[in-house]
Amino acid sequence: MSGPRIGVLALQGDVREHLAALAAVGAEPVPVRRRAELDAVDALLLPGGESTTMSHLLRELELVDVLRARLADGMPAYGSCAGMILLAGEIVDAGAEGRAAIPLAGIDMTVRRNAFGRQVDSFEGDVTFAGLAEPVHAVFIRAPWVERVGPGVQVLAEVAGHPVAVRQGGVLATSFHPEVTGDRRIHRLFVDIVTGRT
Ligand code: GLN
Repeated sequence: MSGPRIGVLALQGDVREHLAALAAVGAEPVPVRRRAELDAVDALLLPGGESTTMSHLLRELELVDVLRARLADGMPAYGSCAGMILLAGEIVDAGAEGRAAIPLAGIDMTVRRNAFGRQVDSFEGDVTFAGLAEPVHAVFIRAPWVERVGPGVQVLAEVAGHPVAVRQGGVLATSFHPEVTGDRRIHRLFVDIVTGRT
């Protein structure tokens, strides 16, 4: 039996690493750059990178409304770092007007872009993650944090009192980058969400 077809938004950022990680946990990953490719996947992973650049490309490729519609329609999704920013309902410090990161509203939350960046650009540490027996070694790179979550949002992990991993229904987001550590538990969790196992 083949795994679910999971798209990786392939405009910019950590695309290859996520394709490899998804394949390693039994999914059938496909890069998504166009509407037809998005239409053909069961779920979508939005990688880390630069949310303003990705937003610019999403606008250019006329993918903003289609993506919003798929998410509103219940498509499972996972966003890491820049991807978490794009999945927010509201973004604080979204970037310069005309170039700002676009909230695609996959999760009822407010995300602050570059939140940790003001204190320290990048850092890593072990984070307790709800549902996982052992902590996750989390790598943060100019990472966002979550400032507000709506009532239907589950906080899965926190750093310094700020949510850094959240889930609402079939949509998952982390401030950190699981694709760089070789720990596949977050990708496995996402595949389990897509297949309805959790
Ligand atoms: N600061 C970046 C942004 O605004 C996110 C960084 C990352 O994805 N590693 O999109």
